[in-house]
Amino acid sequence: MFLGLSRKSVLVTAASKGIGRAIAEEFASEGARVAICSRDKENLLKTSDDIKSKYGIDVLWCVCDLSKRKDVERTVSAVEKEFKSIDILINNCGGPKSGNFSDVDDSDWRDAVDQVLLSAVTATKFVLPKMIEKEWGRIINISSISVKQPIDNLILSNSVRSGLQGLTKSLSNEYGKFNITVNNVAPGYTLTNRVYEIAVNRAKELNVSHEEVLSDIAKEIPLNRLASAKEIASLVVFLASMKASYITGTTIPVDGGYIKGI
Ligand code: NAD
Repeated sequence: MFLGLSRKSVLVTAASKGIGRAIAEEFASEGARVAICSRDKENLLKTSDDIKSKYGIDVLWCVCDLSKRKDVERTVSAVEKEFKSIDILINNCGGPKSGNFSDVDDSDWRDAVDQVLLSAVTATKFVLPKMIEKEWGRIINISSISVKQPIDNLILSNSVRSGLQGLTKSLSNEYGKFNITVNNVAPGYTLTNRVYEIAVNRAKELNVSHEEVLSDIAKEIPLNRLASAKEIASLVVFLASMKASYITGTTIPVDGGYIKGI
């Protein structure tokens, strides 16, 4: 399928690992100009080297803590300077702290808002003027199935990601007239290192193997397995493409059927 992404410039945030990295790779495979950021320089270097050796594409990388507004501003403006404009913005982030209502305090709430919501607000603010000028743009926020079906022990994700969903819909209403689409992709259980580590820790607590923990999760999913990060990336790249020109303001789960509602 011709996606028309060659030479489009894309910034994927929180992309040294996991879903963000898979998204960066998928764009690189389509010939896009790719920039990534995360907190850790070593991981960024490794990811950018890996992508270069696989796809022959130089990946621009910036060290950035998404919970710090100044870092986000510095990153987006550095990428814009290098690429002249950012055609596609993928707002991904690290997951907020887990826990129930009584486990988190005010500073956890603020951290979650900074990382999940305000990082997307700041990056979006920066990219919009050029998108408006070019009358073309794609903004895709990586969210979670928690916005459709709250997950136990994830009060921060369940709450703050819904704010991101509201932002997505509002932006799509405001900027549709400039041919800018704004969407959310909501991954279900996806086998990244983070999920693997969570499974290993839970296995230790329960005195079972991590395979058992992962298999129990899979039993809750109609497709009977966790997603690969690449399966999330496939939808993201499609939404960014010419083929998805009439899709905006929506949240699309990639969850193997996990969400129980119709
Ligand atoms: P991951 O831990 O594998 O990767 C997260 C990436 O974010 C890493 O590159 C990390 O360095 C970066 N990062 C973390 N905090 C950061 C910060 N403050 N500033 C900059 N970069 C930061 O996670 P993942 O599994 O790929 O998940 C990505 C997002 O998708 C998370 O928000 C997660 O909650 C959400 N999500 C994941 C799943 C899943 O099952 N994996 C399901 C639903 C939603």
